[in-house]
Amino acid sequence: MEWLALSKLKNNCQSQVQAYYQRLRLTFSQCDLCGNAPQQHPLICSACLADLPLFKQIIIQGDLLNWPAVNRSLPNIHFDHLFCLSPYLAPFNHWLSQLKYQGRFEVASLFAALLAKKWQQTQLTSSVDLILSVPLHISKWQLRGYNQAHLIAKPFSQQLQLPYQGSALTRVKKNTSQVGQTGKQRRNNLANAFTLRQPLTNEVKHVVLVDDVLTTGSTASEISKLLKCTGVEKVTVVTVCLTLPK
Ligand SMILES: [Zn+2]
Repeated sequence: MEWLALSKLKNNCQSQVQAYYQRLRLTFSQCDLCGNAPQQHPLICSACLADLPLFKQIIIQGDLLNWPAVNRSLPNIHFDHLFCLSPYLAPFNHWLSQLKYQGRFEVASLFAALLAKKWQQTQLTSSVDLILSVPLHISKWQLRGYNQAHLIAKPFSQQLQLPYQGSALTRVKKNTSQVGQTGKQRRNNLANAFTLRQPLTNEVKHVVLVDDVLTTGSTASEISKLLKCTGVEKVTVVTVCLTLPK
């Protein structure tokens, strides 16, 4: 009993300390872009927030595949919808690099908040059954220590109050860098690169797949193909950035 009481006290103290540090960060932090005091999020002030180079979701009805230039540049894909926050431009490219290579995790919560806000405006939320994230191969995960897609997907799902399974997908095939490869080469390299740890339930018909960046769509497409073999009917890919076709 004593142990339980101590454990409860410790947990309460930890949450109070976390809340205290969160207030401190909000009070003393600076906007990443201009140095002014941030309001809604510790990383960015409202003026810079309004000036971010976001896609106009209303024009494309929350789906970049409705944009002919994007649709043409992504042939042979197996996902049905594409929801991205921004082209691969500043400040998103810098933030993505900081998250991926410098472990700046607070960037992931900003991405999740921005994605959730924009997603809610598309009114697609009600039809989603499950959120998944693109996994890293174990060797890459061990090297980096974390999966940036998971760090974005988890708070994104929490804000939308949708179920998330962070470890449902596994990357079983280690690939070399895909930079410079053609779409066909990428697809060949990615064939059978992913598996599901356990089958999804029959109720899962619409999956949202989260990643940091979408370039050729090969990775997301390979996972979508796998999911559709297991009974999933619709896959929506959600990423922070889209590398627009040249
Ligand atoms: Zn600012």
